[in-house]
Amino acid sequence: MSGIGKADHLALGDWNAVCYECGRKFKANTMFRHWQGYYVCAEHWEPRQTQDFVRGVSDIQTPPWTQPMPQDVFVAGAPLTDMAQPSDYPIRGDD
Ligand SMILES: [Zn+2]
Repeated sequence: MSGIGKADHLALGDWNAVCYECGRKFKANTMFRHWQGYYVCAEHWEPRQTQDFVRGVSDIQTPPWTQPMPQDVFVAGAPLTDMAQPSDYPIRGDD
């Protein structure tokens, strides 16, 4: 083994760098930036999985519009409450 690799030569404006995955030495202009931020050789470069870009759809559960129940309408001259109740089961108060 001579100890001198293919990248060990002068190339003006270029430098040697090591692939983050295989550890081999390459000229920097032949390497690619991986989507995780480090540089790899052309053999180990891979595009980012497209499923990484899938985003969930927000589940908005509130209805688009609502309205409250209308207020009670009291009519003048209506019969009193105790007249409308049955005599064998009177309804008194809230309990
Ligand atoms: Zn590599």
